[in-house]
Amino acid sequence: MLTKREIITVREAVKKVLEYKKHGEIEYISIEESDGRYLAEPIVADHDVPPFDRSPLDGFAIRAIDTRNATLEKPVELEIIEEVGAGTVAKKEIKEGQAIRIMTGAKMPEGTDVIVMLELTKEISRDQKKYVVINQSFKKGDNINFQGEDAQKGTQLIERGRRINPGIIALLATFGYAKVPVIKKPVVGIYATGTELLDVQEELQLGKIRNSNSYMVTSQVKKVGAEPYYFGKLDDDFERCYEAITKALEKADLLITTGGVSVGDYDFLPAIYEKLGANVLFNKISMRPGSVTTVAELNGKLLFGLSGNPSACYVGFELYARPWLKSYFKSEKPHLQKIQATLMENFTKPNSFTRFVRGKKSYQNGSLVVSSTGIDKSSNVTILANADALIILPGGEKGYEKGTMVDILLLNEEGSNWSWDK
Ligand code: AMP
Ligand code: MG
Repeated sequence: MLTKREIITVREAVKKVLEYKKHGEIEYISIEESDGRYLAEPIVADHDVPPFDRSPLDGFAIRAIDTRNATLEKPVELEIIEEVGAGTVAKKEIKEGQAIRIMTGAKMPEGTDVIVMLELTKEISRDQKKYVVINQSFKKGDNINFQGEDAQKGTQLIERGRRINPGIIALLATFGYAKVPVIKKPVVGIYATGTELLDVQEELQLGKIRNSNSYMVTSQVKKVGAEPYYFGKLDDDFERCYEAITKALEKADLLITTGGVSVGDYDFLPAIYEKLGANVLFNKISMRPGSVTTVAELNGKLLFGLSGNPSACYVGFELYARPWLKSYFKSEKPHLQKIQATLMENFTKPNSFTRFVRGKKSYQNGSLVVSSTGIDKSSNVTILANADALIILPGGEKGYEKGTMVDILLLNEEGSNWSWDK
C-alpha cells in the first residue's frame, strides 16, 4: 500500500499503467458501422488488385505491333470488331489489323497489349465496316492497369489495431468484408467528485461551479474510440463515494474519477483506494499540471484518479488513460505523437517538474512554431479549447526562451509508438 507520496517521472508512470494493459475481444460489425473502430485483424489482400489487366482509358485495345509503321503521313487503319464496356468481357479474339473499342475499367481483350486513347484516334466507315485510324506507333504495355499493380495477393496492407478511416473502408470493401472484425469498445466509467459541482443545466450559485470535467472526459473517451459511461457526480462524502465507486467497478472496464485526489480534508479518493484494498501504482508525478494524478489497480482493473483542475484532468487523461485504451485496441501507436517545433514565447521561470503547456501549432516562414493558448494554470479551462498540442518543457534549473526547439505532443493525430524513452 502506497501511503506516502513518492514522486515518479512521467515515463515511469506511463510504464506502470501499461504494465496493466489488456487486449479487447473481437466482434464483427457491418462495414457501414465500422468508421472509427479499431481493426482486430490485419487486412491481407486475398486477391490481386486489380484482379485482371484492364483499360485505364476510353479508347481502343489493339496489338502494338500493328502500329509499328504508323506515322502522321502514313496512318494505319484497324478494323473495329467489337465494343466492350466496364464489367463486360470481349467475346472475340483479336487478329492482325483489328481493334476493339474499350471503355475505362474493362478487362483487356485476349490478344491485345496496348490501349490507344480515344482522343488520339479517328473513326471511319468503309464497305459497311468501321475502322480506327491511328497515326503513331505504340509500345506493348502502354496504358494498361496491370493485374496486381495496386496490391498483390498475400500482401499485408494494414496492420491490426489501426483505426478505420475512409481509405481503410475502401480496402475492406475491395476485399469483401461485409462484416468487419473490430475490437469491442471498453466501457470507461466516469464519476466527477466535488460538492461544489453543479449540473450543466443548473443556474450558477454562490460558491459553486458547473461540472465541466465529466463532459470533457466523456468527449476524450469518445475521441479515442472507447465507450464512455457517465455515472454522475458525487458530493465529497466518503461513504457515498466509496459505495458508488465499488458499484461502478462492476460495470466499467476502466474507471475515471475527477477530483478528490489531493491532500485537502475532503479529498477522499486516497482513503477510498485504501478501503478498497487497491494497489496504488503512483500518486505523485513530476509534472505540471496534474502532479497528483493517481492510478490504482484492483483485481486487474485500473482506477484513474484525475485531478479536478480541468487542465490537469485533460492532460492526465491524454498521458495515461489514452495509451491504456489505445493498447486495449491493439494499437501499435498508443502514445501521443511527438514532433519538434520552435517555442514562440518565454517561459523563463524554472520549474523542477516537467510542464505540459497547452499549445497551438502553426507555420511561420515555412517552419513549425508553437505558442501557448492562454494562461498556463492547471485550474484554467479556457486554455483547452484552442489547444492542439502539449508543449513539453522538461523540469530543470533553467527556463525556456523564445526560439528554443521544443518537443510537442500532438492531440489530434493517431499517435506514435514513442514511449518516453529518449
Ligand atoms: P480537486 O481535485 O477536487 O481538489 O479540485 C481541484 C479544482 O478543480 C477545484 O477548484 C474544483 O472546484 C475544480 N473541479 C473539480 N471537479 C471539477 C469538475 N468536474 N469540473 C470543473 N472543475 C472541477
Ligand atoms: Mg474536490
